[in-house]
Amino acid sequence: MESTPPSPHDEMVCRELVEVVTDYLEGTLPDEDRRRLEEHLRECPYCATYIEQMRQTMEALGTLSAESIAPQTRRELLEVFRGWRDR
Ligand SMILES: [Zn+2]
Repeated sequence: MESTPPSPHDEMVCRELVEVVTDYLEGTLPDEDRRRLEEHLRECPYCATYIEQMRQTMEALGTLSAESIAPQTRRELLEVFRGWRDR
């Protein structure tokens, strides 16, 4: 797999993904959004890793709602995504 950093467009999808990840893992994300997200996952190892970590967190907790992701955690994730551009 190529290791080129995400383009600005991809970064936008990455941020969006943070917002919808719980819907995706709970299976409540609309089909169209889910298809777009899965396409992105194939091209974006960062998000693929993030999703996998979230999935494991959900399994560990038994459940996960958007509210259970602390604002602090969200902020940290968004900073990680922003940091990709600097590599
Ligand atoms: Zn991504």
